[in-house]
Parts: sequence; C-alpha cells; structure tokens
Amino acid sequence: MPPFEEYCEEIKKIWDSHWLTNAGVEHNELENKLAERLSISNVSLVTNGHHALEIAISALGLKGEIITTPFTFVSTTSSIARSGCTPVFCDIDPVTLTMDPNKIESLITDRTVAILPVHVYGNICDVEAIQKIADKHHLKVIYDAAHAFNESYKGTNVSNFGDIAIFSFHATKVFNTIEGGCLAYKDPSLRSLISQLRDFGITEDDKIINFASGNAKMNEFQAAMGLCNLRHLDSEIEKRRKVATRYFNLLTGIKGIRLFTKQPQVCYNYAYLPVEFENFKFSRDEAINLLKANGIFARKYFYPLTSSFKPFLNSTSYTTPFAKTISENILTLPLYADLSIEDVEHICSLIIG
Ligand SMILES: *Cc1c(COP(=O)(O)O)cnc(C)c1O
Repeated sequence: MPPFEEYCEEIKKIWDSHWLTNAGVEHNELENKLAERLSISNVSLVTNGHHALEIAISALGLKGEIITTPFTFVSTTSSIARSGCTPVFCDIDPVTLTMDPNKIESLITDRTVAILPVHVYGNICDVEAIQKIADKHHLKVIYDAAHAFNESYKGTNVSNFGDIAIFSFHATKVFNTIEGGCLAYKDPSLRSLISQLRDFGITEDDKIINFASGNAKMNEFQAAMGLCNLRHLDSEIEKRRKVATRYFNLLTGIKGIRLFTKQPQVCYNYAYLPVEFENFKFSRDEAINLLKANGIFARKYFYPLTSSFKPFLNSTSYTTPFAKTISENILTLPLYADLSIEDVEHICSLIIG
C-alpha cells in the first residue's frame, strides 16, 4: 500500500469533483501513465483481470476452440468457457512452465480460433514460436500476463506480444489498484469496442446499443490507488529482487529442491518464488504443512490443474503430463517487498532443516 497521506492527497481531487466513476480524471490519468510505462499505444482499464480476459475474447470476436494451458489460475480457463468457447489444454515446458509451442499444432482443428497462453510466474512464453504458429493458422493470440506486469523480453515490454495482453491489478499482484486490471493492445480500432464491452455496450450515442454486455468499469478510488502505487513500483520491485536473491542464495544447490532459473533477456518483476520438490526429504504437501505449523503460509500455486475442475471436464481428455507433475510438486514461497531477510532465512532453515 502507498503511504496513507499520499492516498488521501490523491483522493482529495475526487471530493472536489464529485466524479466517482465512468472515465474520470484519475481513471484517464492512470490509463495514460500505464500506456507510457508498458510502452504500448492502447491501455483500457477494467474492474479486474478476469473481466479483461473475457472482454479480450469478445473484442476479438472469438467463437470456437481456444488452445490454453491447464497450469494457471482458474480465471484463465473460466474466461474461455464463460465466453462460449471451448478450452483445449496444451502441455507446458518443464523449464519455463509456460505453454510448450511444440505441442500446439497437433491440437489445432478447424474449430480453433485462438491461443491463450500464460506468462506463468513472470516467465515469458516462447512468444516468437507462438506467433509463428498463430500466423500460419490465422489464429488470434491473447496473453494472460497477470504475472508479468512491467516485465520485458529482449527489451520489449510484454504488453506488445499477441493481439491483446491482459494484466491483473488485484491486491495480491506486484502492482495493485485494490481490484483491477487492463487490456493492452496495439490495434487502435479495438479501443471503442473495448469501451463498449466494459460499459453495457453503450456507444458514443447512448441511444444505440449493438450487443448485450456487462459492466467492468474501474472507479476513481481504484485508479487513485493505482496512481499512488505506480510511483513506488520501481522501489517495490527492487525490494522484491533483494528478497528473491536471498532465497536463491540459500536454496541453490540443495538436493531435491528445484529453483526456476531466470530466462535470459527477461527483465523480471519478482512476483513469485516457486520451488519444485523432487525426491527431497519432504514432499510438497509435507513442506506446506511444516511451514503452516510455524505460521508461514506458502501456496500450492497452481494445484490442481484447471483441466481437472468439474466445469471443464469434457469428453476429450487431454494428457498434459508435465503440467500434472509440476502441479503436484510445486510450492510458491512467501515473497513480498517488506518480507525481511531474517524471515527468508527462517523459512529456508525450516525447509532445509
Ligand atoms: C490474478 C490472475 C487472474 C485474474 O485476475 P483478477 O484481477 O483477480 O480477476 C487471471 N489469471 C492469472 C494467471 C492470475 O494470476
């Protein structure tokens, strides 16, 4: 959270204007600042990351099968199903944990309309290979970049990959607007459509509605939180980097614990600290219980695979063996900017023993 006084100062403007929502001053300023920060021509704010996904699918007019990953938060898969599309699950690369591009083409049918990969834990998908496949088969690409805010790959901000990238600004993410999210995209012709999709389908002329749509507008208080948090983003990420580095120093070389090596040419935001247990003296589940008994809350993130959830089970069974093994053995350790180095040392000593 930003300093309390700073937030109060920011929201004073809202009391002066009495403008609470519907593209207010704070909202528009945040859209502009984010476009600058993400080096992308178009940013549309919405009420959360999930609605950003659903709106992205609608804006691209997708109807059919969408190839995606089961190793993600349930939101990715629900957004596909709730849009009337069918999720088709592709296995992941065991090193980056993102969609394995070598497994995509065999899943393409005449009903496939898009690919929806996730930059898991801020590891960047093989964007070049995925775009090549998409171009060859005339498919759209939406990146769930909820974990990759502010990251870049080969000097290009991740918001530039695919037709649309979505971000989540939920309280638990690296950058938050309490709840919130955005779509980032290059094609300016999508802008007015996305504005209609987040606001009941209302056009410039509010007597004309072209399609049924919901409400996903970000309000002024959320945007004010975003403007404050954005000022502190670089120092927050730097603090996270220091915490992550200490974890890496303590856990590197411990037999049975796999840390995920950083991808070259990726500038990270240090959102998560995943570790995989492989024949360690504890299983993943034993480790989580041990930490819990000591008042430390690690997460089984992501477990189980979304493909195993009841709404997404269908007649076709997809085998995603790497995703399955990873989800059974992975744990994300506590990581936040103000986590002390002593706490990191305590957590690691509990695990290592
Ligand atoms: C957080 C998250 C979402 C959903 O974002 P909300 O803002 O919580 O709606 C979607 N996908 C992934 C991978 C996430 O981590």
